[in-house]
Amino acid sequence: MSRIVTQAAVRGAHDILGRAEVLYRQCMEEHEGRQPIGFPETAYYLPMIYSLLGKEVSELHQLEPVLEYLRKDLCPPEPPSDRLWLPYLENALDAGVTTLIAQEIYNCLRYLLGTEPHDSTWHGFISDTILRTLGIQLVDGRMPGFAAVVGAAPSNDLAVHIVRELQKRNILTFLIGNHEGRTVRDQLLEENVITDDPKAGWDIYIVPLGPDTDSIIYALNWAIRGALTFGGHRRGDWKACLDYTRARIFAFGLGLGSIDDLKYASGAGAINMGFPVICDTPIPEIRPTGVCTYEELVRELDHRKMVPTAIEVRGVKVKVTDIDVPVPVAAAFEGETVRKADMYCQMGGKYSTGFEYLHMREMDEVEDGKIEVVGPDIDALEEGGALPFGLVAEVAGRKMQTDFEPILERHVHTFINHAMGIFHMGQRDMNWLRVSKNAYNAGFRLRHFGEVLRGLMMEDFPALVDKMQVTIYSDEAAMLPFLAEARKVWKERDDRLADMTDESVDIFYSCTLCQSYAPNHVCIISPQRLGLCGAYNWLDGKAAYEIDPNGPNQPVAKGQCLDPVKGQWRNVNDFVYNKSNRAVERFNAYSLMEDPMTSCGCFECIVTVLPDGQSVMIVNREYAGETPLGMPFSTLASSVGGGHQTPGFLGVGRLYITSPKFISAEGGLPRIAWMPKELKEGIMERLQARADELGMPDFPSKIADETITTEFEGLMNHMMAVEHPALTMTPLIG
Ligand code: SF4
Repeated sequence: MSRIVTQAAVRGAHDILGRAEVLYRQCMEEHEGRQPIGFPETAYYLPMIYSLLGKEVSELHQLEPVLEYLRKDLCPPEPPSDRLWLPYLENALDAGVTTLIAQEIYNCLRYLLGTEPHDSTWHGFISDTILRTLGIQLVDGRMPGFAAVVGAAPSNDLAVHIVRELQKRNILTFLIGNHEGRTVRDQLLEENVITDDPKAGWDIYIVPLGPDTDSIIYALNWAIRGALTFGGHRRGDWKACLDYTRARIFAFGLGLGSIDDLKYASGAGAINMGFPVICDTPIPEIRPTGVCTYEELVRELDHRKMVPTAIEVRGVKVKVTDIDVPVPVAAAFEGETVRKADMYCQMGGKYSTGFEYLHMREMDEVEDGKIEVVGPDIDALEEGGALPFGLVAEVAGRKMQTDFEPILERHVHTFINHAMGIFHMGQRDMNWLRVSKNAYNAGFRLRHFGEVLRGLMMEDFPALVDKMQVTIYSDEAAMLPFLAEARKVWKERDDRLADMTDESVDIFYSCTLCQSYAPNHVCIISPQRLGLCGAYNWLDGKAAYEIDPNGPNQPVAKGQCLDPVKGQWRNVNDFVYNKSNRAVERFNAYSLMEDPMTSCGCFECIVTVLPDGQSVMIVNREYAGETPLGMPFSTLASSVGGGHQTPGFLGVGRLYITSPKFISAEGGLPRIAWMPKELKEGIMERLQARADELGMPDFPSKIADETITTEFEGLMNHMMAVEHPALTMTPLIG
């Protein structure tokens, strides 16, 4: 460990610790000691303190012993002198942890004073909900890691280059701090790469956290929550938490511009978590491996090589898509929108006839790579014009089955959105596309939709798709016969799926994708119960197994049925026992109360028993308000994840709520007493259909939401007033 680095890190730690102490004293003068403090929408108090020290800090005075511990026990009293020739590693690492905790305290107090986030154009703290929402992308490899970019690049071009290189690799980028008052966020705003809405940045993988170095804590206390949420580690088990971040969270820092003491100290904090730092200035390097997987602190003076160097030093596994089209193609561009002012032309939606249809053909009926455009190209349009758009994709493959057609067709939306400067919404005959001026000027034309689609389909589904051809119709008369055919096929598909039940198949599919984060978690996916993240249904599991027979989705023959009501089968039990590292002995697919499925952390909703012991409420992760249980989603979620079975609590996918198998062991749908309005409205069509099936057509109106009450007592009054069926059902508890 370099003495110069250690000296700077210790000085930086003293700087932030001193500022935290001063701010604490100021807050104590202005507020009561029992003044509540904390970050918005987290169940993990001050997450770094909670994870590493195990303390639940929720009131101002509780910071006192933490600051005292930092000052007296953790922070090295002074930098090593120029004449001291001893190993410095311990001092630097202690200075790093001191910095992380002091930055957390400092920024939390700034939240109390209303000076954080810096302003509405910076994101500030990252909520638990965002952590859970992105969890699935982190586990399935769509987002292989994150980069904390600190400072500013020497030019706007280089800033754009660095961020585009990260986007191409689908790496989430946090923009932090400044160099001499200038930030990468300013540079990207000036180049129209981002807008000044920081929340919109999640869709394009670029999120500005804050203009000062201390904002790095938002990235780091987001990462450490992964150890608790997905890893199931206990608070205070600092070693397990830090081992977890080093082994499973592929993050790194990029330092742009001069590195001052605070940046060195923050970097030392990141290194404790296993995150190396790559700088563009001639800093002393720390190359022996040990704390991080590979090197810790590396200089790379060529800005165009910074990202590849960082990838190599952190050991991130990334896939770069190479498709011959005039714009970059990556998942990081998926959420990008094209505003009207930036649009060259649009197709579908309310502007023209549009549809997209994928179907399988025999091998000799498909000419692989053939992309045909029938009708005029977008060159023929005036800027701002609209064109009909029919996309017909024909695929052939030895392992291809008609069952997989809807899965591949669903990916048309995702894959087309991967092209930078292209916006796509909807599916089937409700699609809507926009081509940006930038994409048009770069040379993007109709045939490139086909190129992108074919390239990504062959890359992501190589075992299913051996050949693919695409025809794009912009001539309305020519497309209509195919639209009629597609509508007939869509109806047949819907009818077939609606007929599938758990009893109609002998095989379920497992999913262990989340084990990279929650090592004991196993999802069992059946036709009537999809994975709790909502992203994988039974057909997805089947297709994924065909694509990768040794992958995370394995067929599980049900075998002997041990309990048809609770949904328990001998072979499923054996499978779950083995794959959960022998942590889960039994599993009931349809029960909330007895041996329920484990939860990994990225569930769409939580189902939980209410204090009356007869009814349940459901909360979706987007809902941040209060609930009749007296806890918001984030607090509830913290008691469920980590791959544990928690009777009375269940992580579920939205679609499962309206399945006939939804907690059917306990009476199913009529148990639901409360759910947020947005969730209820989002599933209303299916909810009504299921209620009709049960002969209770007015049941949806009996489910309360936050506009009726968020109090338990109010809910009971409501249930009595509407004669809610759960009131007369058998108690769930005792
Ligand atoms: S199906 Fe289950 S294990 Fe698979 S990604 Fe979703 S939550 Fe994770």
